[in-house]
Amino acid sequence: MSEGDCLFCKIRDQKIPAAVVYRDDDVLAFKDITPRAPLHLLVIPLRHIATLTDGLPEDAELLGKLMLTGARLAVEAGHGADGFRVVMNAGPNAGQSVLHVHLHVLAGRALAWPPG
Ligand code: 5GP
Ligand code: ZN
Repeated sequence: MSEGDCLFCKIRDQKIPAAVVYRDDDVLAFKDITPRAPLHLLVIPLRHIATLTDGLPEDAELLGKLMLTGARLAVEAGHGADGFRVVMNAGPNAGQSVLHVHLHVLAGRALAWPPG
């Protein structure tokens, strides 16, 4: 999928609306349209990276920032004490349905382990 066809690039470019909760020069966070928990955010790199295995060594800081941003947003939403999950699906068996790297941030209920 090219960047022009990418749903999350369109959200980044405000061609498709989303409930954005955070944006800086590197990452964007918005509410998942089908929330699986009381808090369900997606944190994406602004730059199109289709899937985690497309990440390059020079993307390490950017991909790490997804994690730290997700954690900060979970804490800011009041889930520092009761906890949260950050998870990234990569490829068909993991259920990745949008080919633009995104970190799920889930909180607000007990989360089963292992997932699905
Ligand atoms: P995946 O299954 O690829 O790990 O996660 C994709 C996520 O994107 C799903 O949780 C799905 O609900 C969410 N999603 C799909 N389309 C849209 C959309 O148009 N807007 C938003 N905010 N989330 C979306
Ligand atoms: Zn994209």
